[in-house]
Amino acid sequence: MARIGFIGLGNMGGPMAANLIRAGHHVDGFDLAAHCCTAAAAQGVSIASSAKAAIEAADIVITMLPAGRHVIECYTHLLPHAKIGSLFIDCSTIDVQTARLAHEAARAAGLLSLDAPVSGGVGGAVAGTLTFMVGGSEEAFGLGEKILASMGRKIVHCGEAGAGQAAKICNNMILGISMIAVSEAFVLAEKLGLSHQALFDVASTSSGQCWSLTSYCPVPGPVPASPANQDYKPGFAAALMLKDLRLSQEAAKNAGAATSLGKLATDIYEQFAAAGHEGADFSAIINAVRAAP
Ligand code: NAD
Repeated sequence: MARIGFIGLGNMGGPMAANLIRAGHHVDGFDLAAHCCTAAAAQGVSIASSAKAAIEAADIVITMLPAGRHVIECYTHLLPHAKIGSLFIDCSTIDVQTARLAHEAARAAGLLSLDAPVSGGVGGAVAGTLTFMVGGSEEAFGLGEKILASMGRKIVHCGEAGAGQAAKICNNMILGISMIAVSEAFVLAEKLGLSHQALFDVASTSSGQCWSLTSYCPVPGPVPASPANQDYKPGFAAALMLKDLRLSQEAAKNAGAATSLGKLATDIYEQFAAAGHEGADFSAIINAVRAAP
Protein backbone atom coordinates (compact mmCIF):
# COMPACT_ATOMS: atom_id res chain seq x y z
CA MET A 1 0.00 0.00 0.00
CA ALA A 2 1.29 3.45 -0.89
CA ARG A 3 0.41 6.74 0.70
CA ILE A 4 -0.70 9.04 -2.09
CA GLY A 5 -1.31 12.80 -2.11
CA PHE A 6 -3.84 13.67 -4.85
CA ILE A 7 -4.29 17.29 -5.95
CA GLY A 8 -7.20 18.07 -8.28
CA LEU A 9 -10.28 15.91 -7.63
CA GLY A 10 -12.37 17.09 -10.59
CA ASN A 11 -14.11 15.11 -13.35
CA MET A 12 -11.01 12.98 -13.93
CA GLY A 13 -9.09 13.22 -10.65
CA GLY A 14 -12.09 12.25 -8.48
CA PRO A 15 -12.69 8.83 -10.07
CA MET A 16 -8.94 8.21 -10.46
CA ALA A 17 -8.45 8.75 -6.73
CA ALA A 18 -11.40 6.42 -6.06
CA ASN A 19 -9.67 3.67 -8.05
CA LEU A 20 -6.49 4.13 -6.01
CA ILE A 21 -8.57 3.58 -2.86
CA ARG A 22 -10.13 0.46 -4.41
CA ALA A 23 -6.62 -0.85 -5.13
CA GLY A 24 -5.85 -0.59 -1.40
CA HIS A 25 -3.85 2.65 -1.27
CA HIS A 26 -4.34 5.49 1.22
CA VAL A 27 -5.20 8.76 -0.54
CA ASP A 28 -4.99 12.22 1.01
CA GLY A 29 -6.73 14.54 -1.44
CA PHE A 30 -7.29 18.23 -1.96
CA ASP A 31 -9.23 20.38 -4.41
CA LEU A 32 -10.05 24.08 -4.35
CA ALA A 33 -13.69 23.23 -5.14
CA ALA A 34 -15.60 22.04 -2.06
CA HIS A 35 -18.06 19.91 -4.07
CA CYS A 36 -15.16 17.90 -5.55
CA CYS A 37 -13.82 17.25 -2.04
CA THR A 38 -17.25 16.10 -0.85
CA ALA A 39 -17.65 13.70 -3.79
CA ALA A 40 -14.13 12.28 -3.31
CA ALA A 41 -14.65 11.87 0.44
CA ALA A 42 -17.70 9.72 -0.32
CA GLN A 43 -15.35 7.41 -2.26
CA GLY A 44 -12.97 7.05 0.68
CA VAL A 45 -10.46 9.85 -0.03
CA SER A 46 -9.20 11.57 3.16
CA ILE A 47 -9.68 15.25 2.45
CA ALA A 48 -6.78 17.40 3.68
CA SER A 49 -7.05 21.01 4.82
CA SER A 50 -4.63 22.18 2.10
CA ALA A 51 -2.56 20.88 -0.79
CA LYS A 52 0.52 21.03 1.42
CA ALA A 53 -1.18 18.92 4.11
CA ALA A 54 -2.23 16.39 1.44
CA ILE A 55 1.29 15.76 0.19
CA GLU A 56 3.60 16.12 3.21
CA ALA A 57 3.52 12.42 4.18
CA ALA A 58 2.98 11.06 0.65
CA ASP A 59 5.20 8.52 -1.13
CA ILE A 60 3.56 9.52 -4.41
CA VAL A 61 2.07 12.90 -5.32
CA ILE A 62 -0.40 12.97 -8.22
CA THR A 63 -1.69 16.18 -9.81
CA MET A 64 -4.72 16.28 -12.15
CA LEU A 65 -5.19 19.97 -12.91
CA PRO A 66 -6.68 22.09 -15.71
CA ALA A 67 -3.56 23.58 -17.35
CA GLY A 68 0.20 24.14 -17.22
CA ARG A 69 0.08 27.22 -15.03
CA HIS A 70 -1.80 25.32 -12.29
CA VAL A 71 0.78 22.54 -12.40
CA ILE A 72 3.74 24.91 -12.13
CA GLU A 73 2.06 26.85 -9.29
CA CYS A 74 1.42 23.59 -7.43
CA TYR A 75 4.95 22.26 -7.99
CA THR A 76 6.51 25.56 -6.86
CA HIS A 77 4.35 25.60 -3.75
CA LEU A 78 4.56 21.89 -2.88
CA LEU A 79 8.03 20.62 -3.81
CA PRO A 80 9.75 22.20 -0.76
CA HIS A 81 7.33 20.34 1.53
CA ALA A 82 7.53 16.91 -0.12
CA LYS A 83 8.84 13.83 1.65
CA ILE A 84 12.39 12.83 0.69
CA GLY A 85 12.27 10.11 -1.96
CA SER A 86 8.69 10.82 -3.02
CA LEU A 87 7.66 10.68 -6.69
CA PHE A 88 5.67 13.45 -8.40
CA ILE A 89 3.34 12.36 -11.22
CA ASP A 90 1.47 14.97 -13.23
CA CYS A 91 -1.48 13.45 -15.12
CA SER A 92 -2.88 16.77 -16.43
CA THR A 93 -2.73 17.54 -20.16
CA ILE A 94 -0.31 20.46 -20.48
CA ASP A 95 2.21 21.84 -22.97
CA VAL A 96 5.49 20.02 -23.44
CA GLN A 97 7.65 22.97 -22.36
CA THR A 98 5.82 23.45 -19.07
CA ALA A 99 5.94 19.70 -18.44
CA ARG A 100 9.72 19.85 -18.84
CA LEU A 101 9.90 22.83 -16.47
CA ALA A 102 7.92 20.83 -13.89
CA HIS A 103 10.38 17.92 -14.22
CA GLU A 104 13.26 20.36 -13.85
CA ALA A 105 11.73 21.86 -10.68
CA ALA A 106 11.31 18.37 -9.20
CA ARG A 107 14.88 17.44 -10.12
CA ALA A 108 16.17 20.65 -8.49
CA ALA A 109 14.28 19.64 -5.33
CA GLY A 110 16.00 16.22 -5.44
CA LEU A 111 12.83 14.35 -6.42
CA LEU A 112 11.84 12.00 -9.24
CA SER A 113 8.94 12.93 -11.52
CA LEU A 114 6.80 11.72 -14.41
CA ASP A 115 4.50 13.44 -16.89
CA ALA A 116 1.65 10.97 -17.40
CA PRO A 117 -1.29 12.43 -19.33
CA VAL A 118 -4.20 10.13 -20.07
CA SER A 119 -6.65 9.22 -22.76
CA GLY A 120 -9.97 7.51 -22.17
CA GLY A 121 -11.99 10.38 -20.72
CA VAL A 122 -14.23 10.38 -17.66
CA GLY A 123 -15.63 6.94 -18.61
CA GLY A 124 -12.11 5.49 -18.60
CA ALA A 125 -11.27 7.26 -15.34
CA VAL A 126 -14.35 5.74 -13.66
CA ALA A 127 -13.78 2.27 -15.10
CA GLY A 128 -10.02 2.32 -14.41
CA THR A 129 -9.26 1.69 -18.09
CA LEU A 130 -7.27 4.85 -18.93
CA THR A 131 -4.21 4.80 -21.16
CA PHE A 132 -1.26 6.60 -19.57
CA MET A 133 1.42 8.12 -21.81
CA VAL A 134 4.46 8.54 -19.62
CA GLY A 135 7.60 10.66 -19.82
CA GLY A 136 10.50 10.52 -17.38
CA SER A 137 13.51 8.44 -16.36
CA GLU A 138 13.49 4.63 -16.19
CA GLU A 139 13.93 4.93 -12.43
CA ALA A 140 10.87 7.17 -12.02
CA PHE A 141 8.82 4.98 -14.37
CA GLY A 142 9.80 1.89 -12.38
CA LEU A 143 8.45 3.53 -9.22
CA GLY A 144 5.25 4.87 -10.76
CA GLU A 145 4.11 2.17 -13.17
CA LYS A 146 2.27 0.02 -10.61
CA ILE A 147 0.40 3.01 -9.19
CA LEU A 148 -0.69 4.10 -12.67
CA ALA A 149 -1.84 0.52 -13.35
CA SER A 150 -4.37 0.94 -10.50
CA MET A 151 -6.06 3.65 -12.58
CA GLY A 152 -5.48 2.45 -16.14
CA ARG A 153 -5.28 -0.52 -18.45
CA LYS A 154 -2.36 0.52 -20.64
CA ILE A 155 0.77 2.27 -19.38
CA VAL A 156 3.24 3.30 -22.10
CA HIS A 157 6.69 4.66 -21.28
CA CYS A 158 7.15 7.08 -24.18
CA GLY A 159 10.61 8.42 -23.33
CA GLU A 160 12.30 11.10 -21.25
CA ALA A 161 10.76 14.22 -19.63
CA GLY A 162 7.85 15.62 -21.64
CA ALA A 163 7.51 12.57 -23.92
CA GLY A 164 4.12 11.65 -22.43
CA GLN A 165 2.71 15.08 -23.24
CA ALA A 166 4.25 14.93 -26.71
CA ALA A 167 2.52 11.58 -27.37
CA LYS A 168 -0.79 12.88 -26.05
CA ILE A 169 -0.95 15.99 -28.23
CA CYS A 170 0.26 14.16 -31.35
CA ASN A 171 -2.45 11.53 -30.80
CA ASN A 172 -5.16 14.12 -30.18
CA MET A 173 -4.13 16.14 -33.22
CA ILE A 174 -4.80 12.99 -35.28
CA LEU A 175 -8.13 12.62 -33.48
CA GLY A 176 -9.27 16.20 -34.13
CA ILE A 177 -8.34 16.02 -37.80
CA SER A 178 -9.86 12.57 -38.29
CA MET A 179 -13.16 13.52 -36.64
CA ILE A 180 -13.53 16.40 -39.10
CA ALA A 181 -12.56 14.12 -42.00
CA VAL A 182 -15.15 11.49 -41.01
CA SER A 183 -17.79 14.22 -40.53
CA GLU A 184 -17.10 15.63 -43.99
CA ALA A 185 -17.46 12.14 -45.50
CA PHE A 186 -20.87 11.60 -43.83
CA VAL A 187 -22.11 15.03 -44.92
CA LEU A 188 -20.95 14.37 -48.49
CA ALA A 189 -22.67 10.95 -48.36
CA GLU A 190 -25.93 12.64 -47.25
CA LYS A 191 -25.77 14.98 -50.23
CA LEU A 192 -25.05 12.05 -52.56
CA GLY A 193 -28.04 10.08 -51.25
CA LEU A 194 -25.89 7.43 -49.54
CA SER A 195 -27.19 6.20 -46.16
CA HIS A 196 -25.13 6.57 -42.99
CA GLN A 197 -25.21 2.82 -42.44
CA ALA A 198 -23.99 2.06 -45.97
CA LEU A 199 -21.04 4.42 -45.66
CA PHE A 200 -20.25 2.99 -42.23
CA ASP A 201 -20.43 -0.62 -43.44
CA VAL A 202 -18.02 0.13 -46.27
CA ALA A 203 -15.58 2.56 -44.62
CA SER A 204 -15.35 0.68 -41.31
CA THR A 205 -13.92 -2.33 -43.15
CA SER A 206 -12.00 -0.39 -45.81
CA SER A 207 -9.10 2.00 -46.01
CA GLY A 208 -11.11 4.89 -44.53
CA GLN A 209 -11.32 3.06 -41.23
CA CYS A 210 -10.28 4.98 -38.08
CA TRP A 211 -11.30 5.34 -34.41
CA SER A 212 -13.44 8.44 -35.11
CA LEU A 213 -15.51 6.28 -37.44
CA THR A 214 -15.58 2.85 -35.79
CA SER A 215 -15.71 3.75 -32.08
CA TYR A 216 -17.03 7.29 -32.01
CA CYS A 217 -19.13 7.63 -35.14
CA PRO A 218 -20.44 11.24 -35.41
CA VAL A 219 -23.87 10.22 -36.77
CA PRO A 220 -26.49 8.34 -34.72
CA GLY A 221 -27.06 4.68 -35.54
CA PRO A 222 -23.99 2.74 -36.62
CA VAL A 223 -22.15 2.81 -33.25
CA PRO A 224 -24.83 2.76 -30.51
CA ALA A 225 -22.45 3.89 -27.73
CA SER A 226 -21.21 7.01 -29.54
CA PRO A 227 -22.32 10.44 -28.18
CA ALA A 228 -24.19 11.12 -31.47
CA ASN A 229 -26.87 8.79 -30.09
CA GLN A 230 -27.30 10.97 -26.99
CA ASP A 231 -27.62 14.38 -28.57
CA TYR A 232 -23.81 14.81 -28.44
CA LYS A 233 -23.60 14.83 -24.65
CA PRO A 234 -19.86 14.47 -23.81
CA GLY A 235 -17.88 12.19 -23.85
CA PHE A 236 -14.99 14.41 -24.69
CA ALA A 237 -16.08 18.02 -24.85
CA ALA A 238 -15.21 20.24 -27.81
CA ALA A 239 -13.50 22.62 -25.32
CA LEU A 240 -11.04 19.86 -24.36
CA MET A 241 -10.40 18.97 -28.00
CA LEU A 242 -9.71 22.63 -28.71
CA LYS A 243 -7.35 22.79 -25.73
CA ASP A 244 -5.35 19.82 -27.05
CA LEU A 245 -5.31 21.16 -30.63
CA ARG A 246 -4.01 24.50 -29.36
CA LEU A 247 -1.29 22.65 -27.44
CA SER A 248 -0.37 20.79 -30.64
CA GLN A 249 -0.03 24.06 -32.52
CA GLU A 250 2.08 25.62 -29.76
CA ALA A 251 4.34 22.55 -29.82
CA ALA A 252 4.50 22.56 -33.63
CA LYS A 253 5.52 26.23 -33.61
CA ASN A 254 8.23 25.67 -30.98
CA ALA A 255 9.54 22.57 -32.76
CA GLY A 256 9.33 24.03 -36.27
CA ALA A 257 6.98 21.29 -37.54
CA ALA A 258 4.53 21.92 -40.40
CA THR A 259 1.04 20.81 -39.32
CA SER A 260 -1.28 22.50 -41.80
CA LEU A 261 -4.21 20.13 -41.18
CA GLY A 262 -3.65 20.45 -37.44
CA LYS A 263 -3.90 24.23 -37.81
CA LEU A 264 -7.05 23.96 -39.91
CA ALA A 265 -8.64 21.60 -37.36
CA THR A 266 -7.74 24.07 -34.59
CA ASP A 267 -9.42 26.91 -36.53
CA ILE A 268 -12.55 24.81 -37.12
CA TYR A 269 -12.85 23.90 -33.42
CA GLU A 270 -12.12 27.56 -32.46
CA GLN A 271 -15.15 28.64 -34.54
CA PHE A 272 -17.27 25.82 -33.12
CA ALA A 273 -16.43 26.83 -29.53
CA ALA A 274 -16.93 30.55 -30.28
CA ALA A 275 -20.42 29.71 -31.56
CA GLY A 276 -21.28 28.41 -28.07
CA HIS A 277 -20.75 24.66 -28.57
CA GLU A 278 -17.70 24.17 -26.36
CA GLY A 279 -19.72 22.01 -23.94
CA ALA A 280 -20.95 19.62 -26.65
CA ASP A 281 -19.10 16.43 -27.48
CA PHE A 282 -16.34 17.09 -30.04
CA SER A 283 -18.06 14.77 -32.53
CA ALA A 284 -20.86 17.39 -32.77
CA ILE A 285 -18.47 19.15 -35.15
CA ILE A 286 -20.46 17.30 -37.85
CA ASN A 287 -23.29 19.78 -37.27
CA ALA A 288 -20.93 22.67 -38.09
CA VAL A 289 -19.67 20.81 -41.16
CA ARG A 290 -23.27 20.23 -42.29
CA ALA A 291 -24.18 23.90 -41.73
CA ALA A 292 -21.09 25.26 -43.51
CA PRO A 293 -21.97 27.37 -46.59
P1 NAD B 1 -11.75 19.58 -13.94
O1 NAD B 1 -11.82 21.04 -14.16
O2 NAD B 1 -13.01 18.80 -13.73
O3 NAD B 1 -10.78 19.27 -12.68
C1 NAD B 1 -9.65 20.02 -12.36
C2 NAD B 1 -9.73 20.30 -10.87
O4 NAD B 1 -8.54 20.95 -10.43
C3 NAD B 1 -10.90 21.24 -10.49
O5 NAD B 1 -11.78 20.54 -9.63
C4 NAD B 1 -10.21 22.43 -9.81
O6 NAD B 1 -10.96 22.94 -8.72
C5 NAD B 1 -8.92 21.79 -9.36
N1 NAD B 1 -7.83 22.75 -9.10
C6 NAD B 1 -7.39 23.75 -9.88
N2 NAD B 1 -6.33 24.36 -9.31
C7 NAD B 1 -6.12 23.73 -8.11
C8 NAD B 1 -5.18 23.88 -7.05
N3 NAD B 1 -4.23 24.84 -7.09
N4 NAD B 1 -5.27 23.08 -6.00
C9 NAD B 1 -6.21 22.10 -5.93
N5 NAD B 1 -7.13 21.90 -6.90
C10 NAD B 1 -7.07 22.69 -7.99
O7 NAD B 1 -10.92 18.98 -15.16
P2 NAD B 1 -10.83 17.45 -15.63
O8 NAD B 1 -11.85 17.18 -16.68
O9 NAD B 1 -10.75 16.59 -14.44
O10 NAD B 1 -9.42 17.47 -16.39
C11 NAD B 1 -8.20 17.49 -15.66
C12 NAD B 1 -7.06 17.35 -16.66
O11 NAD B 1 -7.22 16.14 -17.40
C13 NAD B 1 -7.00 18.48 -17.70
O12 NAD B 1 -5.65 18.82 -17.92
C14 NAD B 1 -7.65 17.87 -18.93
O13 NAD B 1 -7.20 18.43 -20.13
C15 NAD B 1 -7.21 16.42 -18.78
N6 NAD B 1 -8.09 15.44 -19.45
C16 NAD B 1 -9.44 15.51 -19.31
C17 NAD B 1 -10.23 14.57 -19.95
C18 NAD B 1 -11.74 14.60 -19.80
O14 NAD B 1 -12.43 13.90 -20.56
N7 NAD B 1 -12.30 15.38 -18.87
C19 NAD B 1 -9.66 13.56 -20.73
C20 NAD B 1 -8.28 13.49 -20.82
C21 NAD B 1 -7.49 14.44 -20.17
